[in-house]
Amino acid sequence: MLEFRGVGRTYPGPPPVTALRPADLSVRRGDFVTVSGPSGSGKSTFLNIAGLLDTPTEGTCLLDGIDVGGLADADRTAVRGRRIGFVFQSFHLLPHRTAQENVELGMVYAGVPGRERAERASAALRDVGLGHRRAALPGRLSGGERQRVAIARALAVRPALLLCDEPTGNLDSATAETVLTLLDELNDQGMTLVMITHDQTVAARGSRRVTIRDGVLNESAPTAAR
Ligand code: ADP
Repeated sequence: MLEFRGVGRTYPGPPPVTALRPADLSVRRGDFVTVSGPSGSGKSTFLNIAGLLDTPTEGTCLLDGIDVGGLADADRTAVRGRRIGFVFQSFHLLPHRTAQENVELGMVYAGVPGRERAERASAALRDVGLGHRRAALPGRLSGGERQRVAIARALAVRPALLLCDEPTGNLDSATAETVLTLLDELNDQGMTLVMITHDQTVAARGSRRVTIRDGVLNESAPTAAR
């Protein structure tokens, strides 16, 4: 569903910085790919291209067979809004909106009709185990609950691909485990996941492991099934 063919990214500088060297990667439906590497290795550059937030300076990036580098900005934004869900380290929830409202607002940009948003948001919050916390403001939720709201917001759009950027980076290890378990369950239900992490233990949760070092992307040999 997501295919990198010789995808590379050089920032113009001066001096120019090649953040991602030409890379091939094919993410298939139902994969759980983790991308790990030290700080400055090119993970964000990879994620920005995979999430259609940035375009490569070399090669071709295909999402469901569409060459996304060839799209006009508005079309790329539309594809991103409908096809890709994002989960970030710092949750990015609106503090003065309830959990339910945060999830509903995520659907506005994806063009989900107004009458469907409330129902889908309630269902997504139920799916992440927060049906009883719909009316809560983010400040009244624990870190793990906030991240589950952010995951519900991404899922409500029914994306083809969920991109997670250090989703457990702000969580203590016990809470991180509940979020990782939720991601495992989503993957078991068929969701395609790409997760960026600098943490090797977290990276081991994926069914496919990619590492980036100095802009060079490599896939490790497959590990045994979970
Ligand atoms: P990571 O996410 O692994 O920390 P990044 O993808 O952010 O790594 O960065 C990879 C390299 O590209 C680093 O050397 C960084 O300094 C450089 N870089 C990232 N963004 C830019 C930019 N907008 N302009 C110039 N250099 C950049």
